[in-house]
Amino acid sequence: AKAKGRNTFHFYSQELDAAANERLYIENELRQAIKEGQFSLRYQPQIDSTTEQVVGYEALVRWYHPEKGFIAPTKFIPIAEATGMIVELGAWVLREACQFSARLRRSGRAADISVNLSARQFKDVELIEHIATTLKETGLSPQMLHLELTESMLMGDVEAAIEQLLEMKKLGVSLSIDDFGTGYSSLSYLKRFPVDVLKVDRSFVKDIPEDSNDMEITAAIIAMAQKLSMKVIAEGVETEEQVAFLQRNNCFIVQGYYYSAPLTEHEILLQSQHPDIG
Ligand code: C2E
Ligand code: CA
Ligand code: CA
Ligand code: CA
Repeated sequence: AKAKGRNTFHFYSQELDAAANERLYIENELRQAIKEGQFSLRYQPQIDSTTEQVVGYEALVRWYHPEKGFIAPTKFIPIAEATGMIVELGAWVLREACQFSARLRRSGRAADISVNLSARQFKDVELIEHIATTLKETGLSPQMLHLELTESMLMGDVEAAIEQLLEMKKLGVSLSIDDFGTGYSSLSYLKRFPVDVLKVDRSFVKDIPEDSNDMEITAAIIAMAQKLSMKVIAEGVETEEQVAFLQRNNCFIVQGYYYSAPLTEHEILLQSQHPDIG
């Protein structure tokens, strides 16, 4: 039993080493990547399912490492967050996304742009000034910019969070709660947050119509958002049945592979020259 115990320990510690090494590796490479600009953005269309028109795009960051290739944001964003590098990376993402939307606008295709904010950025004292400067320098109208926050970012110091949200609203931007339903926000706080949009997390959508609990929860979230005068966007919509279910429950704006994966700007420009495609 002793020997077995030792082996088990050995096994876990090797696994931990591998995880720690990977973390360290990504951390070092991230520094380099930010300096060298190894990042790009993809834009996932948000569709009005009743007209099939694009109403906006969500900007999603991509990292192509010169040797390792694609590294998923779920791998490197938490590390960028923990090390503080997310502030610089996030500033780049915001500028790039605003420029994209301003370019679309100038070519006659208006489309709102959603940008993910991390907890570290949200707490940054320079955030408000930074957003204001970026809007001014890119010429994007504030009402076209949507900033996505998660419930957990708002739940620590609720009063401070509300203050910060109100400052953001003063800039004229729109605010969304991302991954809604996965955090610990309480309903009594929700109505105090000056947010415009709830994004129903993919985890509730993905098993519709097989999972009746998920259907109930999704319908309840939509109904609640409407009571609070918030718009709803469903994330991770992959099937026609899911679109139909959401429509029956009064959610018309959807994002997901059913309509489109995240695209490059080039792909979007090609598409809108041929509006019948996609
Ligand atoms: P998120 O904000 O919830 O973004 C949605 C994720 O779901 C994206 O993954 C998107 O590609 C994926 N997705 C969209 N439609 C579908 C679908 O129909 N099925 C499935 N299975 N997936 C779908 P991605 O791009 O890998 O990003 C993962 C997460 O990384 C994001 O989740 C967000 O939390 C974070 N992230 C991405 N870009 C940024 C960024 O620029 N800044 C920050 N702070 N976080 C970012
Ligand atoms: Ca998001
Ligand atoms: Ca989300
Ligand atoms: Ca998510």
